[in-house]
Amino acid sequence: MSAAPDRSRRALVFGRQQAEPPLRPPWALTESDFLDRCTGCGACIDRCPEQVLARGTAGYPVFDPKLGECTFCGDCEQACVPRALDRDAVASPWNHLAQVGDACLPRHGVVCSSCRDACPERAIAFPLTTALPTPVIDAALCTGCGACVGVCPVDAITLHRADRETA
Ligand code: SF4
Ligand code: SF4
Ligand code: SF4
Repeated sequence: MSAAPDRSRRALVFGRQQAEPPLRPPWALTESDFLDRCTGCGACIDRCPEQVLARGTAGYPVFDPKLGECTFCGDCEQACVPRALDRDAVASPWNHLAQVGDACLPRHGVVCSSCRDACPERAIAFPLTTALPTPVIDAALCTGCGACVGVCPVDAITLHRADRETA
């Protein structure tokens, strides 16, 4: 069963965020379809054992990597009754990728490798090309899990979402 979408609520979010859609929970439909289906019930947020989902604009759920790592357990997707999250409809949980910004400490001569230590995929390398190596993220290995985001002492890592093919 799916509740009728609230068109004004949807328009508010979609109008504001066309340029940079927020990070939705894993297996979210494309942003427009997601906003059509999601009723803002919060079941995915309540079900997440890692507590990395939160309410965003107009009550729609977002993934906040500063809260921790998504383990891709799938509990949120299973909890979504209106199927705004639907692993049968999308090929992969998402295509978020981590990106290191200019605040990164080694770029300023300070030793740090917290992100590498936190990454479950070993996607962060520190190539020995300079006296103080800086992190490089392997896009082929990064799952966008967010484990590296919250551990960075200077908030240098962000996740970016690109458009994704449906299954
Ligand atoms: S897949 Fe699991 S850990 Fe990731 S957001 Fe959903 S419920 Fe939380
Ligand atoms: S944790 Fe942050 S500051 Fe430290 S190396 Fe990684 S990106 Fe740079
Ligand atoms: S988002 Fe996850 S997989 Fe990607 S670099 Fe960060 S910790 Fe590693």
